[in-house]
Amino acid sequence: MTEPLYRDAPYERENAARVTAIDDHGIRLDRTVFYPRGGGQAGDAGALVLGDGREVAIADTVKVEGDIVHVPAPGQLALAGLAPGATLTARIDWERRHRHMRFHTATHLLCAIVPHPTNGCSITSGYARLDFDMVEPLEREHLERELARLVAEAHEVRTVWITDEELDAKPELVRTMSVKPPRGVGRVRLLEIDGVDLQACGGTHVANTREIGTLRVTKIEKKSARSRRVVLEFASA
Ligand SMILES: [Zn+2]
Repeated sequence: MTEPLYRDAPYERENAARVTAIDDHGIRLDRTVFYPRGGGQAGDAGALVLGDGREVAIADTVKVEGDIVHVPAPGQLALAGLAPGATLTARIDWERRHRHMRFHTATHLLCAIVPHPTNGCSITSGYARLDFDMVEPLEREHLERELARLVAEAHEVRTVWITDEELDAKPELVRTMSVKPPRGVGRVRLLEIDGVDLQACGGTHVANTREIGTLRVTKIEKKSARSRRVVLEFASA
């Protein structure tokens, strides 16, 4: 299984790696900074830089049978020289990933502002979309104002690992969470925004809310009788 470096080091842009397998799905490495699509967050793009300087462009990163697979952009000659055992540098498209991190952290802020469960989430480099299970109307000005406040307050963002037993011993922790963590895997990764939000999450985030920048609520949509969709974009591209 690939060692997921993005989990503990979301600011790492590249890493030395060895190819462990190549198949129809794509390329697997022993370790990688590439985040595989999941939890609503888009997979990373970037390049695998070979020893001789040639690059294999990676269009997407996905999970196949629980393992991380780097999906090459179609029609690349450099792929011909790639075989298991080859060493290379895995380098993500950092500009794109950093936007994912800012948007992903912003969705946590939105969860803290809107006190209702979510039932859909999509985080791309262009926008973040969150669906809430609720019937009440949402007001754009209110959401933008609260988001701006939480960004300006510069809250620290950190991950906390907790065992199932620790979670059982602290039921108040679960009560404060907007999403209940998965059970039965031994330990749970929590994302904590100091004084704002705490929930189980496996995505990548910025280290401080001020790094998100100015957000615009570009759409509030009544998706169904019991669902409200909110779309966020950055004020400046
Ligand atoms: Zn998250």
